[in-house]
Amino acid sequence: MKDKQAFVDDVNKYIEKGLIIKADTIEELAAKLHLPVENLKKTIERQNQNYIDHVDKDFGKEYYRMSPIEKKPYYGCILGGRILGTLDGLRVNGKMEVLDKDYQPINHPFTAGNDSGGFFWGSYPDRVPGLASSHAQTFGRLAGKNAAKN
Ligand SMILES: Cc1cc2nc3c(=O)[nH]c(=O)nc-3n(C[C@H](O)[C@H](O)[C@H](O)COP(=O)(O)OP(=O)(O)OC[C@H]3O[C@@H](n4cnc5c(N)ncnc54)[C@H](O)[C@@H]3O)c2cc1C
Repeated sequence: MKDKQAFVDDVNKYIEKGLIIKADTIEELAAKLHLPVENLKKTIERQNQNYIDHVDKDFGKEYYRMSPIEKKPYYGCILGGRILGTLDGLRVNGKMEVLDKDYQPINHPFTAGNDSGGFFWGSYPDRVPGLASSHAQTFGRLAGKNAAKN
């Protein structure tokens, strides 16, 4: 967001669309978000106590990122997660044969894509178009060729 007003305008846009809920009380917010009201109240109390204590006991968030929830209006929305891809797979050799715990090929299983090796070990470069598919295709071809010979 380029400035505070742009942020406020964005929030208001999503309130109009019904994706962000605005309420004057925690009870109203819980009802509109279909959340158990007592649980939401306890979560907010705990979050506020964490803020007073300067320690996020639940998620380890740094203090400068924390803020109390203490005055109306209250805003809420339902967020979800999704899986981009799995990281790290079965141990393989250069023929894409799956290896056992002693690094010996287990006869017949071949693998490719994210289920093989540690292509994304240590880091996941966010949004490099074609990276995972070119990895899957290149090593999939290799696995297929070796499987056909086996
Ligand atoms: C929104 C989104 C954006 C992404 N953007 C990027 C990006 O920009 N760059 C990038 O590099 N990666 C990106 N990814 C990640 C990338 O798509 C995955 O890492 C990649 O598709 C993994 O390839 P794969 O061949 O290992 O597995 P998959 O593509 O998951 O292929 C596995 C295949 O196995 C099949 N299968 C499963 N079970 C069985 C079974 N029992 N029998 C037979 N077949 C079965 C499935 O149907 C599927 O076709 C993105 C992913 C998402 C969701």
